[in-house]
Amino acid sequence: MKPGRRKLRRSRALLVGALALLVALAAGCLRYEPSPGNVALTFDDGPHPQWTPQILDVLDFVGVPATFFVVGDEVERYPELVAEMQRRGHSVQNHSATHPDLTTLSDAAVRQELRSTTDAIVAAGADAPVCLRPPYGSYDQRITSLAEAEGLEMLLWDVDTRDWAQPGVPAIVDAATRAGDQDIILLHDGSGDRSQTLAALAEIIVELDAMGYGFEPICVAP
Ligand SMILES: [Zn+2]
Repeated sequence: MKPGRRKLRRSRALLVGALALLVALAAGCLRYEPSPGNVALTFDDGPHPQWTPQILDVLDFVGVPATFFVVGDEVERYPELVAEMQRRGHSVQNHSATHPDLTTLSDAAVRQELRSTTDAIVAAGADAPVCLRPPYGSYDQRITSLAEAEGLEMLLWDVDTRDWAQPGVPAIVDAATRAGDQDIILLHDGSGDRSQTLAALAEIIVELDAMGYGFEPICVAP
């Protein structure tokens, strides 16, 4: 792609993001945490051609909206999965382009990680992201400022299910169902074998529902 065209696409993505933010601000404010009585299911490191469609189908089956923190390089590989997330009413947010520890990168490299991911998400047909979940939860004041300059709010999690370590389905369910009111729960749909996460998901939802919680996407207008 010619540099000029890339620049145009980027500025269009920024414009779309700014407009989405203005609309959200006019409507009240963006929801960065679930409202009282709710929790948020979040999935990192996708989209993945094997696991993401199955996770989307489970969420669809039980009518639960979630939030996907996607990796830009994977978005470029599987844009149709990101379009599907958007079509099914999920929130799609920024998790960097190549999943580095952002604190080890130069300012310019961090900007590139964030911008190219936002561009890929918008090009795939989803709303421009407004939240950044830094890979490994690693960030500092410099990363926070660089993200804010790109229109991205830092967003971590409250409950780590440690599903990335494949500790077994019962351990993932147990960790997730220790969530309290308004907690953000960390799960993964990418970067490895996610069969345990997939197997745990329905039970997590059933148990949290039985505890009286609803489910909300985050980083969206209420
Ligand atoms: Zn990650």
